[in-house]
Order: sequence, then C-alpha cells, then structure tokens
Amino acid sequence: MYYKSTRDSNVNVTAAQAIAQGISKDGGLFVPSEIPVITFDDIKAMGEMSYPDRAAFVFSKYLTDFSESEIRYCVDNAYTEKNFDTKNICELAKLFDGTYMLELWHGPTCAFKDMALQILPYLITTSSKKINLDKRVVILVATSGDTGKAALEGFKDVDGTQIMVFYPVDGVSKMQKKQMTTQEGNNVFVCAINGNFDDAQNGVKSIFTDREVENQLSKNGLMFSSANSINWGRLAPQIIYYVSSYAQLVKDKEIKLGEKINIVVPTGNFGNILAAYYAKKMGVPVNKLICASNSNNVLTDFLKTGVYDRNRKFYTTISPSMDILISSNLERLLYHLCGENDSQIRNWFSSLADCGKYEVTDDVKAVLRKEFYAGFCDDMQTKACIKEQYDKHSYVCDTHTAVAVKVYEDYRKITGDTAKTVIASTASPYKFSNSVLDALGEFDSSMDEFELVDKLYETSRLDVPKSLAELKDKQIRFNDTIEKSEMKNFVLKSLGV
Ligand SMILES: *Cc1c(COP(=O)(O)O)cnc(C)c1O
Repeated sequence: MYYKSTRDSNVNVTAAQAIAQGISKDGGLFVPSEIPVITFDDIKAMGEMSYPDRAAFVFSKYLTDFSESEIRYCVDNAYTEKNFDTKNICELAKLFDGTYMLELWHGPTCAFKDMALQILPYLITTSSKKINLDKRVVILVATSGDTGKAALEGFKDVDGTQIMVFYPVDGVSKMQKKQMTTQEGNNVFVCAINGNFDDAQNGVKSIFTDREVENQLSKNGLMFSSANSINWGRLAPQIIYYVSSYAQLVKDKEIKLGEKINIVVPTGNFGNILAAYYAKKMGVPVNKLICASNSNNVLTDFLKTGVYDRNRKFYTTISPSMDILISSNLERLLYHLCGENDSQIRNWFSSLADCGKYEVTDDVKAVLRKEFYAGFCDDMQTKACIKEQYDKHSYVCDTHTAVAVKVYEDYRKITGDTAKTVIASTASPYKFSNSVLDALGEFDSSMDEFELVDKLYETSRLDVPKSLAELKDKQIRFNDTIEKSEMKNFVLKSLGV
C-alpha cells in the first residue's frame, strides 16, 4: 500500500514516509492509494480480541511497510492500563435501547485526542528509524488548550523525542493551564506567549519554515515534526475504534453481523468523522454518517448544499474544540469522492485560500447526500440536551458530545430512522465541569475549578478521572511567559543548540 498526495497523485510514498513527513511537499495531505477491505469473518474474529490486538490488525492493513513486531511495539506501548483507565481502552455505554455512547475519553487527558496522540509518538519514531532519518524528533505545538496537553502526555519520556508547547497566556482555561504547567517528563517544555492563539500558531509556523533553525537542528541530529491532525499517523488510529466498536456490538449480541448502524460524530476539523468514513469503506456496515456541528456550522451547510463558505461570523461556544471554520481533513474525503482528481482539489483549495469559498460538482454533491447527514445546534440547545439526557437516562455528557446527541435526536425525528446508532463521546464531562454544571442548573460562580469537579461528582456520581483529581496537588514546573518575538530563541536555547 502506498500513500498519495491529495494535490499530486504522482506522489507515491510508504506509510513510514507519510508519517515521518506529516504533510506532502506540495501542501497536500497523504491518503492511502486504496482502502483495504475487511470481511465479516475478520469482524467476528475481532470481537474475541483485546483492543491492542484489534488495533494491530487494523494497522497491519494500512502500515504494510511496518513489520509485525514494529506494529506490536507501537500498539503495546500506547494502549495499556498505564495510560487508560479501562483495559478496554474505550467503552461502549448504552444511552437507551439501540443507542450507544462510544466513550473515547478514558485516556490521560480525558478527551478523544488521546486515542491517537498516545500512539503517534511511537508511529513517528518507528517511521523515522525505518527511513533511516536517524534523528531525534522535535515536536512543536501551538495550542488553544486540548491538543497541547494530549500531545505532551503522548510524547513525554518517549525515547528519541522532545516536545515543546506554546499557549496564549490568557487564552486557555484555568484547568487547561494547570494541566500544562504541571506537565511531567524529561523531554517536555511548556511556555506561555503574550498574545492570542494565532500569535502562538504563527510563531510556530515561522520557526518550522526557518531554514537557519532547520540547519542548526540538523547539525545537532534533530529534526522537526508535527503532531497536527493532518498527519496520517493521527488519522489511522481513529479508524480502529469504529471497527472495534462494531465488532464489540456483534460480540455482545446487540446487533447482528451485517446489520447497518449509524455513526454520529461531533465535528471540528473533520478528522474523527473521516475515520468513520474509512471504517465504512473498509467494510463496516454503516448506514448514515451523521456530522454534528455547533453554531460554527460551515460543515452543515457544505454537506447540504455542496458549497463550502468560510466567510461567516466566528462563534466562541461552550464546545470550543469544534470552533473551527476550516476543516482541513475534508480535503481527504473530497479527493476520494472526485475520483482522485488532484487538479480538481488544487482548484477548490486555492479558491478556499483566495476567496474562502468553493463549490463541488453535482456528482460529489450526490455522494455527500447519500453518505452523510448534517445538522447543528447552538449553546442553548446543547445545554438543554445535557439536562435532558441526565433527567431521562441518568447519563452526563460533556458539551461536545451533547451537540452530537441533539443532532442525532433531530435526525431521528426528521427521518424516522431507528437503526442502531453509535454516538462518539469525545470528552469527559469533568473536562468542562462549569458548562456541564451550568446546564444542570448547579453552577456556582464562587467555586474554583477543583471545587466544581467535586460538585459535579456530587451530582453525577461518575468517577472523577484520576489525572484531573491529582492535578490539584501537582507542582508547577513551567512558569515562563515570553514575547512572540522570543519564541525562536526559546526553542534553540531549550534544545541547547
Ligand atoms: C478535537 C475535538 C473534537 C473535534 O474533532 P475533529 O476530529 O477535529 O472533527 C470534538 N470534541 C472534542 C472534545 C475534541 O477535543
């Protein structure tokens, strides 16, 4: 199996090259040259396997240049009870008959990004060894909160890597700040920037593309890499849990082998739902892929009309990880749907860069309508949904997951489709305790972030994730705040080059 670039179909690289490189030199994203197929027998067999074994099986279809022992090394280091609070790695909870919550937040930072970022460091270091890069990998991340912490936890103390995270000094929540400033590990650096998220992001981008820095690193046996969701090494691990949850439902006799299910995903950058699309194309019986957005509903409009238009108001919502107007992974889907027509993709995405807008062909529109359903809800509806699920089903969901539940309820009403359904639950409610308590009518503005966690425990009686509970007594390790202009020096100085 080879990987092509969405902007140049002549590019042909191995999985190891695609993962070590991150993005193609032409600016395109790497996609598999064909989507591997699994059979019903495979699905049945997977039902009897542990999560790491299921993961190894799915990876073996995509990382065909990796040896069995290389795949095992990655999988066994990432998906363990040391990193996740359940040996199942992710859980399927029944919300009500025929509707299941796929809880993807049992990892160290309590959000679904752990599912990929726990394994990405091993995929990157194995890949760079395979292609004889033989350099230590330096990961630079600009974060508005969640990705930075998940990347830090993934890369901490992984041999052959260093990680450096920059965040806007007043742009993250108190809990997120505490999570990052107390980060443990001997290869981690965390630093605040005087500025907003864009300043941090632009600073990181300019260091990435600085020739002088690159040479300096290279002389010292170092190279940059990215933990961003455009890396195939972040997408592939997400396909696994969709295949795995179908196999689990069959094993638990909740569905019959071959029965079609719906999958609902609260969406931002289109990575998680694209993984569900790959699972479907591999042979998992899926009816509709339901794309749920918050008030930043650019994807709802796109999937309904075929017109992508980012020229619209940006909303700051209570589901911040979905506050996105450019969903980069959509490029991969469109490449597959337009018959791998790279010039078509170049046209659409240069139009997006120039005027913030493009319109796909009628053929592509027809497939989008067939495969996807799209909907959105605002903050008021999100909160009402959290309260309703708690009252009706005693299930407390976080703000992102609630968007998905609400859009799914609308879908059921509009279509009358009662097929069994899996809803991706992307964060622990504790991660967004204040919004969740507010929705339940229990918010107290005099409480600090840890008192709010205790309060949510009294209400929900859900176990508090250990990693959040322990945070309270952790030592602050990183207290630097620097100007944007000092970022480059900070990087070079921290690396000692
Ligand atoms: C990142 C994130 C999302 C959005 O996922 P995409 O892959 O970007 O679509 C949804 N919910 C939570 C909690 C997240 O952290």
